[in-house]
Amino acid sequence: MSARVDAIHALLPQTQCTRCGFQGCRPYAEAIAAGASLINRCPPGGRATIHQLARLLQTDELALDPECGIESPAMVAHIDEERCIGCARCLPPCPVDAIIGAQRQMHTVLNDLCTGCELCVAPCPVDCISLIPRSELRPSSPEPKAAENLRRYDAHETRRARREQDRTAMLAARKRRIDVMTP
Ligand code: SF4
Ligand code: SF4
Ligand code: SF4
Repeated sequence: MSARVDAIHALLPQTQCTRCGFQGCRPYAEAIAAGASLINRCPPGGRATIHQLARLLQTDELALDPECGIESPAMVAHIDEERCIGCARCLPPCPVDAIIGAQRQMHTVLNDLCTGCELCVAPCPVDCISLIPRSELRPSSPEPKAAENLRRYDAHETRRARREQDRTAMLAARKRRIDVMTP
């Protein structure tokens, strides 16, 4: 099963956008491999990905499921820097760490890395992030490749897990100190 999941996963765009209804590309690949999901739920991959999945799995091609969204030109996030309040809430949701900035400082999107996944839009409390067609960028900037998206996502997840471990250890140490001090 693992080889089958890997083969399916390798055909997905790795934006981790969750539009397929799963928490990323690998969970969607696992669901397809298990027969728990159809092959037509990935809007970023669109028809090309459906075609490749159908070939791999020797099944019929299907139209993209409209419940998941529509196939659109490559997009990129843009931050209105005049309105950005530097709250940094857009940083953790970005699967590929394509936003730079620190607390109380203006934030900026790194166009070369942004997949247009939109996961940074909803957390922004002042609605200063919008999506624009990548073709409008001047100077132009090529869309990042799936392999690079995956590499950056894996690094992002590793850092997130390490932070979570550190936080759990810190809370446990604090609780031990309180227990010792409590008569
Ligand atoms: S890129 Fe496709 S497979 Fe990956 S999370 Fe988005 S919709 Fe799902
Ligand atoms: S900047 Fe926003 S749209 Fe671009 S990859 Fe990060 S979360 Fe997705
Ligand atoms: S969430 Fe919005 S306001 Fe906060 S740092 Fe990001 S872009 Fe700026």
